[in-house]
Amino acid sequence: MIKQGVSLKTYNSFGVAAEAALFAVAKTIEDLQFILKDQRFASAWILGGGSNTLFCETPKTPIIQLAISGIEITEEQGDEVVIKAGAGVNWHELVLWSLEKGFGGLENLALIPGNVGAAPIQNIGAYGVELQDVFESCTLVNRNDQSVETYDKVACQFGYRDSIFKRELKHKAVITDVCLRLKKENYRLNTSYGAIAQLFTSKGISTPSPKEIADVVIDIRTTKLPDPKQLGNAGSFFKNPIVDHDQFEQLKSSFPDIPHYAQSNQNYKIPAAWLIEQVGLKGTRKGDVGTHKHHALVLVNFGNASGDDIKVFSQMVQQAVEERFDIRLQPEVNFCC
Ligand SMILES: Cc1cc2nc3c(=O)[nH]c(=O)nc-3n(C[C@H](O)[C@H](O)[C@H](O)COP(=O)(O)OP(=O)(O)OC[C@H]3O[C@@H](n4cnc5c(N)ncnc54)[C@H](O)[C@@H]3O)c2cc1C
Repeated sequence: MIKQGVSLKTYNSFGVAAEAALFAVAKTIEDLQFILKDQRFASAWILGGGSNTLFCETPKTPIIQLAISGIEITEEQGDEVVIKAGAGVNWHELVLWSLEKGFGGLENLALIPGNVGAAPIQNIGAYGVELQDVFESCTLVNRNDQSVETYDKVACQFGYRDSIFKRELKHKAVITDVCLRLKKENYRLNTSYGAIAQLFTSKGISTPSPKEIADVVIDIRTTKLPDPKQLGNAGSFFKNPIVDHDQFEQLKSSFPDIPHYAQSNQNYKIPAAWLIEQVGLKGTRKGDVGTHKHHALVLVNFGNASGDDIKVFSQMVQQAVEERFDIRLQPEVNFCC
């Protein structure tokens, strides 16, 4: 269960070389509790699929990989069903499993890399849907005393790419399974996202099935996003910044064309990709690190970049955007250094 000197290169979607002095795999809650009781793992880094993690060359912390498997139906009532999946289940496999059963709710979240246990951490989202829209609860192990607790949607305090696990519970809890409430019929489908809506209109489909939506999402993602197996990356490197009304008005007076999305509380979300493009950094390369030529927000490893190289490059991007727009981009990616 515990190994020494493990290469992390294949455990992160950036494909950067790094080595963990200590590496443990938890296949059950009991494994996890046992590992957490070992003082050497007191401050260990929790690893899922490594698709949102940037490793420095020598992470100072040991690693615990969550490999708890299993998907089951725990409740069925009327047109709803609750499913439970272990933290180590691959997210996209869960989506495919749910679609095969005819369940709706996860279709827009198809093909997001990573594992189930990490999904609540940043409230994964894509194409107009977020995890919180289907989230029922999750089980977590408290790292201090190894007690097991259940957190419901309210307790998780979800926000845009955010949850309690990125704030008060950061490094304090390990998610071991996630329960999702899906629909067996009377689906609540979301086809509002531009590219999805256009495709269905052009195909003359007015009420697509969850599977048809997932197929379109998979098509769009496969053609548009760089595959980490070909080009190391972690998807969006930064979150889209949210500014308040006053800051937005100032920005708009200086940059009348600034794209923006009004939020519920008089705040505005600004696409980080646009900000990066405006400072001339779309498709820029320094050594083996750069921004993708079609996606300014995606930082890529062209070959042999180290985690530190990527970190330094990301800081250069942050600085350039801040100097021009007075906005500090916040990384979506988690640094394990
Ligand atoms: C090509 C590409 C496209 C992407 N597209 C999207 C997208 O559309 N939407 C989106 O939201 N994200 C996207 N991402 C980011 C990524 O897929 C998600 O953040 C995903 O949830 C990460 O899962 P993981 O298992 O790989 O997490 P990891 O990288 O292993 O971990 C991420 C964080 O969660 C913590 N963590 C992991 N598992 C647990 C656990 N069981 N308990 C407690 N903490 C844990 C880790 O310590 C780390 O801080 C994309 C990434 C790539 C590479």
